Amino acid sequence: MDRTSARPTGLLSLHLEIALGIAASSVLIAALVLLASTFGIPFTTYTGFYGHEKKQALENLSFVADLKKDRLENWLNEAKGDLSILSTGKSLGALARRIEETVSRPAETGVTSKSVSREIARDPNYANVMARFDAFVKTYERYSKIQLVAADTGSIVVSTAEDETGTTFGSVKAFETTSRSSQEVKVDVEKDPVDLRTYVVLSKSVPYDGTQDASRAGRAPVILAYADMEKLVRPMLYTGEGMGKTGEILLVSQERRALMSLKHSLPDGTIPKALAYQIEATPARLAALGHNGIVESKDYRGVPVWAAYRFIQVSPGQGWGMVVKQDVSEIMAPVWSGGFYTSIIGIIGVVTACVLALAIGRRISKPIDELSEIAEQVGSGNLNVKARTDGPPEIKALAHTFNSMIEDIRNWHDELGRQVELRTTQLVKVNQELHAEIAERKRVEDALRAGEQRYKYLYEKTPVPLHSVNDRFQIIHVSDYWLELLGYSREEVLGKAPVDFLTPASRLQAEQVNIPRFLKQGSAKDVSYQMLKKNGEVIDVLLSAFADRDAEDELVQSLSAFYDVTDLRRTERALQQAHDELEERVLERTAALERSNLELATQIEQRKHTEEKLRSVLADLTTSNQDLEKFAYVASHDLQEPLRNVASCMQLLEKRHKGELGAESDQLITYAVDSVKTMKLLIEDLLAFSRIVTRGKPLEMTDAEEIMKLTIRNLEQSITRAGAVITYDPLPRVRVDRTQLMQVLQNLISNSIKFARGEPPQVHVSARRKGQAWVFSVTDNGIGIDSRFFDRIFIIFQRLHKKIQYGGTGMGLAIVKKIIERHRGEIWVESQPGVGSTFNFTIPDGG
Ligand code: ADP
Repeated sequence: MDRTSARPTGLLSLHLEIALGIAASSVLIAALVLLASTFGIPFTTYTGFYGHEKKQALENLSFVADLKKDRLENWLNEAKGDLSILSTGKSLGALARRIEETVSRPAETGVTSKSVSREIARDPNYANVMARFDAFVKTYERYSKIQLVAADTGSIVVSTAEDETGTTFGSVKAFETTSRSSQEVKVDVEKDPVDLRTYVVLSKSVPYDGTQDASRAGRAPVILAYADMEKLVRPMLYTGEGMGKTGEILLVSQERRALMSLKHSLPDGTIPKALAYQIEATPARLAALGHNGIVESKDYRGVPVWAAYRFIQVSPGQGWGMVVKQDVSEIMAPVWSGGFYTSIIGIIGVVTACVLALAIGRRISKPIDELSEIAEQVGSGNLNVKARTDGPPEIKALAHTFNSMIEDIRNWHDELGRQVELRTTQLVKVNQELHAEIAERKRVEDALRAGEQRYKYLYEKTPVPLHSVNDRFQIIHVSDYWLELLGYSREEVLGKAPVDFLTPASRLQAEQVNIPRFLKQGSAKDVSYQMLKKNGEVIDVLLSAFADRDAEDELVQSLSAFYDVTDLRRTERALQQAHDELEERVLERTAALERSNLELATQIEQRKHTEEKLRSVLADLTTSNQDLEKFAYVASHDLQEPLRNVASCMQLLEKRHKGELGAESDQLITYAVDSVKTMKLLIEDLLAFSRIVTRGKPLEMTDAEEIMKLTIRNLEQSITRAGAVITYDPLPRVRVDRTQLMQVLQNLISNSIKFARGEPPQVHVSARRKGQAWVFSVTDNGIGIDSRFFDRIFIIFQRLHKKIQYGGTGMGLAIVKKIIERHRGEIWVESQPGVGSTFNFTIPDGG
């Protein structure tokens, strides 16, 4: 066992506790003694230094106050007596009467203080009175001055002070009241306006001398005696008393005005002035109110003081307050200093007591500490120790007992050691066996737990929907995939029957047929069911299961797995539907095809028929066309010969017999000749027309511009005649029969010149590309053509004008159209009557 942990766990050691106890009690005692000696013992008559000092001080203050009050009252009485004496005497009485008379004259006589005093000074009694006043002042030495004042005007008539005679009295108030009570001496405190000193002013009216008219009472002159407050009264109050540094005696009026200057300045540093400063402190207030007593309070500075206050009756209805006070701090200073030294001594005593206490504590606790140390060693197993047996008898006895106890413990310890050793050997063996067994068990348990967990893991995580039921057909295991597929949580499924998750129809099937069969056979394979998912969807499944049965062939538990064949079923249904639809459409389409086949056969038949018809018409047409061309050729060729003969005959007839057969015959001959000429032209044109195809030359690349130039040269005569202007753009090379292109251009340009509007014809030839062909345009400014005739003009012999108007055969444009058609081109006209015409024709690139 750890040595230190066996130690007592108290905060302080024994000897320190003893020392602290002694020290604390000595401090307490010293403090109590100090407090009692200073402030006394409660509920007893002992008041301590403080109480004693306070009592003494208050007694002292009361004593001083009484003394000073007596002195002041004595002095006042004496002064009053002085003034009573001074106010009597014949000369004064006579002078007073004279003064009264003087001041009571009507105002208009010009009475002033000066005039009064001048007049009185001349009075025989004046010198006498003056001498008496002077003697009085000098004899008593207590008055600063004595005055005689006219009561009505306040004029100072007689004064012991220089330069005052003839002036007006400073404080009229003082003698006004005095004059009304003529028998009394009134005492006031006034500040002299000239020398600014504070005086105790005693005043008394000069009494009647018997001759005076009683009705004029109250107007007698007043005699005033001035005693200096600071010079006379203050020393009187302050002599002979030990009042310390802060001791002060104050005099206040009944209105609490300070009558003498105060000893201390105020807390704000100002010096309170006599008669100006009003004292609010409690002692002064109490004294001014007429009380006598002692009080513990604050003075006018706010400093704590002890004070004795007295009221002094200075005259009937008039009094002063007197306060004798001293600062508490000064009075108590000896007490505090005594307390300080007592405390020092007390502290020294306490320190000594503590040192002694430590020593005593040490001596008491040392043997105990030693014993406790030995006990600790025994506790920690060391039994070979012994306590010292010297020292005080109590400790000796304790040490003996201790040693015999150690001896006993040693014996027990040895015996115990032997037994423990034996038992330990047995225990170690048993322990080892137990450990081995526990380890084996743990290993087996771990293996079991691992196997179980693996089985559970495999069951739950296998990606096949699995469930197992117990003997009551309640689901006891279910795989995650099962839950995921149907959307339930494990808690919702466990404890339910598998049939709870089937559609009503499947459930009926299961309960009535499949489950009884499964219980009988012990297995089922690919049984078709419909299951209900949590979200209400129905899925198709194929379920297989086998039963785990006990010896009595009763179901213990089962394992079922199923797979979702919903998609398969859906696909099957969709396929079937598509197949059905397809078949239906094939039937429909076949019927429609048969119908259209029939129609087509009919149409083909009709076409064949039409084609045959067309072919025979075409053959007819070709034959007739060839016949026509042959006819045209033969007719024009064969007709030329007889026509030439007719023409020759007619010309011969004209030549020989003109003018012989009469005018009418001549005319007829001329007609016949013209007709033959025309016929000749017609036949020539017809012949040319019929030769376009039969005598056409092969097509070849030809410079159209060159042809254009040749054409202009050919037409030069008629151009010049008509004054026509022929212009043309650069023209392309084209695949044509050059003679026929020249024929086309010649016919069109000559028409443009022929069908002019009276002004010189302007003809312009241009060419532009359009698709696979060149479009040539011949534009003029001639008479133009009405759009109604656009087609007609291209037909043989079709003319719009009479021959007499414009000559021609009506074959020109027919020939042009025929040539263009030979070149697989087209021709058309754009025209506006009165503006001009444009003849367009195309020459395809192939020609
Ligand atoms: P002919 O010129 O011999 O009469 P055409 O076949 O050349 O025969 O012309 C047929 C008719 O077309 C003319 O009679 C005339 O009325 C009209 N024609 C042809 N070319 C023009 C043209 N450039 N301006 C106005 N009329 C025209």
